[in-house]
Amino acid sequence: MDSVTSPPAVDNSLTEKPSYIVSMTNLQKLNINKKNMTVTFGAGWDVYDLTEELKANGLTFGNLGVERVQNFVGAASTGTHGSGSNIGNIASQIIGLRVLDAQGQLRVINEINNPEELKAFRISLGALGLITEMTIKVQPTLLMKKTTKVVNATSDYRLMGKELAQLYKDHERDWDLEPTYFYSYWEPTDYTGVRNCTLNYCANGCGDCNKEYICYDDVIDAASCPPQGVCSREFYAEIEHFLPIEYYAEATADYISYQQSQTPRMKAPYNNMMVIQHRSLKGDDTYMSPVNTYNLGPELSGVFAIIEIDWIQTYNNFTTLWQNQALGDEFLPRFGDKYNARPHWNKMNPANATYTLEKFPKLPEFLAIQQRQDPNCQFVNEFLVQQLGITRCANYLSM
Ligand SMILES: Cc1cc2nc3c(=O)[nH]c(=O)nc-3n(C[C@H](O)[C@H](O)[C@H](O)COP(=O)(O)OP(=O)(O)OC[C@H]3O[C@@H](n4cnc5c(N)ncnc54)[C@H](O)[C@@H]3O)c2cc1C
Repeated sequence: MDSVTSPPAVDNSLTEKPSYIVSMTNLQKLNINKKNMTVTFGAGWDVYDLTEELKANGLTFGNLGVERVQNFVGAASTGTHGSGSNIGNIASQIIGLRVLDAQGQLRVINEINNPEELKAFRISLGALGLITEMTIKVQPTLLMKKTTKVVNATSDYRLMGKELAQLYKDHERDWDLEPTYFYSYWEPTDYTGVRNCTLNYCANGCGDCNKEYICYDDVIDAASCPPQGVCSREFYAEIEHFLPIEYYAEATADYISYQQSQTPRMKAPYNNMMVIQHRSLKGDDTYMSPVNTYNLGPELSGVFAIIEIDWIQTYNNFTTLWQNQALGDEFLPRFGDKYNARPHWNKMNPANATYTLEKFPKLPEFLAIQQRQDPNCQFVNEFLVQQLGITRCANYLSM
């Protein structure tokens, strides 16, 4: 059985709140099962270290975010994702886990014994207990060809939205939008030459992005960037919304038009640039997944488009950060219902419990499991009370 070996990592003298952060860093066990094509690992593993270990064993998993800086369990628990209409978020490859509840009971949740509960635990937002170990599906190393193309933008955002939507039909992609914008797409290849995608990661605007090029690499390095490829760490405000891809062309025009119309408001200093990234993602059957398909009508494909806007600064200035984030927070009330949009967890999510229930119809089932795992609200914080409506815990917060 796993055990939590590190002491609490919080200096209690700095806060009045009776809260603790638990470090799982020392949970480093790893077991690769090539017969079942699974890997089981402790909660201490980071995405980067895990992908390097898999590479060394001729294995990979295809569901990666743009960057690989996160702890794997943390990234999975908020629905972290990359891009691809046939690719799910990284939580969708979880087939089992061990979790410690608030009363010290260890539960094993997996797709054989409790498949329905697994749908709650794949994306748990830290609310269902301490996950100590996970098992995920893996696949043999896959070689990809990444193609990047530069396209002229237009100030006719409706036309541009239509053009972008057509590109989605043609390719798997992930792009940023500038006076000219670029898009990248990936396809399997049997190329045997030099692997070279690590020469220009071009993740989140870092690197020599706005040019046409082709590179080849293991899917891990072709689609995602390790910590050493990350070039920028300035503050930035951000929104990221998932919406059915059928609404994408119109939503794109609306989001860009609204941002452009609000530019005169952005008077605070140190604004540098605004990056708009668009991706796609396969929908799923995970209770708290932003791409859950529970409320989609039969006319919708179950594929989601992702619209992200980043307001990037030249200098870390709080006034600018909060001014831009206040603008960012206006997008969900303005467009959320129109486009069935769900915000990315962990990214300044401005929804409330009523909105969350509409977009996450399995919320009541999730909260029932939450109550069993955490009857005295030890895992609950202000964010969870407000966003998920865990009203039974509201009083515990003011203790
Ligand atoms: C540089 C950078 C790049 C990013 N790129 C992408 C991207 O490409 N795509 C994307 O979708 N997102 C991206 N994100 C967002 C990021 O993936 C999520 O915010 C992710 O949740 C962060 O993981 P973390 O390790 O920091 O976890 P934390 O923020 O520490 O934890 C996330 C949540 O998981 C819970 N949790 C963590 N560990 C456990 C555990 N052992 N048991 C139970 N609950 C646990 C926490 O309580 C918390 O609720 C990026 C973030 C950064 C900082």
